[in-house]
Amino acid sequence: MLSTMQDEPLSLATLLRYASTFRGDSVVSTWTGTGVRTMTFRELGTESARLANALRGLGIGVGDRVATFMWNNNEHMVAYIAVPAMGAVLHALNIRLFPEQLVYVANHAEDQVVIVDGTLLPMFAQYLPNLKTVRHVIVANGDAAALEAPEGVQVHSYTELLAAQPDTYDFPVIDERSAAAMCYTSGTTGDPKGVVYSHRSNWLHAMQVISPNSMGFTDFDKVLAIVPLFHANAWGLPYAALMSGANVLMPDRFLQPGPLLEMMAVEKPTFAAAVPTIWGGVLAGLAAQPQDISHLRTVVVGGSAVPPAMMHAFQEKYGVRILHAWGMTETSPLGSVSHPPVDVSGDEEWAYRYTQGRFPATVQARLVADDGTVVPNDGESLGELQVRGPWITGSYYAPDGGSVDPEKFDDGWLRTGDVGKITPNGYLTLVDRSKDVIKSGGEWISSVDLENAVMGHPAVAEAAVIGVPDEKWDERPLVAIVLKEGAEPGADQAGELREFLADKFAKWQLPERWTFIAEVPKTSVGKFDKKRLRAQFADGDLEVTTLG
Ligand code: ADP
Repeated sequence: MLSTMQDEPLSLATLLRYASTFRGDSVVSTWTGTGVRTMTFRELGTESARLANALRGLGIGVGDRVATFMWNNNEHMVAYIAVPAMGAVLHALNIRLFPEQLVYVANHAEDQVVIVDGTLLPMFAQYLPNLKTVRHVIVANGDAAALEAPEGVQVHSYTELLAAQPDTYDFPVIDERSAAAMCYTSGTTGDPKGVVYSHRSNWLHAMQVISPNSMGFTDFDKVLAIVPLFHANAWGLPYAALMSGANVLMPDRFLQPGPLLEMMAVEKPTFAAAVPTIWGGVLAGLAAQPQDISHLRTVVVGGSAVPPAMMHAFQEKYGVRILHAWGMTETSPLGSVSHPPVDVSGDEEWAYRYTQGRFPATVQARLVADDGTVVPNDGESLGELQVRGPWITGSYYAPDGGSVDPEKFDDGWLRTGDVGKITPNGYLTLVDRSKDVIKSGGEWISSVDLENAVMGHPAVAEAAVIGVPDEKWDERPLVAIVLKEGAEPGADQAGELREFLADKFAKWQLPERWTFIAEVPKTSVGKFDKKRLRAQFADGDLEVTTLG
């Protein structure tokens, strides 16, 4: 029996229409260094129509890829919605990728147009001659004449191009399963791989993002989107904001702790999202120059494990709640979010909040052991996390047919590469990435557990742990420490830190090898780059103190 329900496609054009009419008074603002440039959702609607007309004029049709090479700002937000709404496919390029990777992903995606921020032109100009499929470059917030175009490429000014367009566009009705946007993984553990989101997946995902069980922001909020629009589908923030009418605050290129704090002092966002590294910087900034940030009612942090010490510092010193979430580029990215059960308090509540949290109904999850068996959700058994659902990718983009990394999929499930455990009431705790877990004498040591614990020491600003070869045990942990100002590196400090860990770990897990470094190398999206740390160790670039 068929239902009587209307079969209305979940298209981003419908979302744009909704946001620009019924939520027309909400705003997107971009920080300029001293104030904000503001655009209402109503204006976003007309700007989107102009951009769609302009792109159509440049020959862009349904399914064509339009890339962005931009900071988080008003123009990027326009592209984020206008490109998919017209049926084309948005590809937000990660401006911090290594040059070869950037060129690789743009060619792999066959980007035809790139919208570039003026401030990024010098960097983009180096890549442009190698971008084989790009025919048009549109320069926003800068001087188009400053870019020398290779043969076959036309350069346009965003402002001039859009000014010449009508402010309405007949956005097409397209199949909800068609491609809306694509994002490449940031390549933390290998070459970037393409994930293609559909209208339907982005729509359903946005509904979950605004659910109180997930991020739960509303039109009362001003959402500070620090997570770059090019990282993991921008954590779903743009579409979720358009759906909920939440106001959006964009930091543009002002991403250092000082300028971020200045912006917060003026704009007083109520909600923010970024990886732990950013918040570590903000904490250090606040320690140097205290400021009231209690206007932030919630800060969503994910992308890598949030150290409990960071959660406590925000809550206890600044009255700001950190909401820990797990996700991947491949999962749109919302996977799990750590809201504790309502009936717990004190330490028990904290213990829940440290976890990666619970999955929504749309994300099915299971843990699979090395031998391929599914392990029980008993809060103890470890396995690789596998997920499936309507916004989880079922493959990687492979333009020439064939399949990319088919071993990342298991009978319709995505293998996340994350190792963890799940409690009977559904809370996920990730122990490590399978590539980072330290295999010592046949047992596992979680690099994340060691990092979290040692980052609880008052002298430690950052700590990253990698496994290094050991004759007797195969692998042992090496702890790379960035000390806070005033603390002295050396064997005494290492001894004190080891002592600090002594009551938190089994004796055989306590690290002997320590190194003091100026900075933990970071990936293009601000995560600890353990690949580089391992290479530094292998090249003999790290001075290691070994405790007896
Ligand atoms: P990349 O894989 O290139 O780093 P992603 O940003 O998609 O790009 O990374 C997803 C991975 O980040 C996850 O598989 C997981 O290892 C890690 N991650 C994300 N959120 C968390 C979290 N809350 N705790 C621990 N690890 C996390």
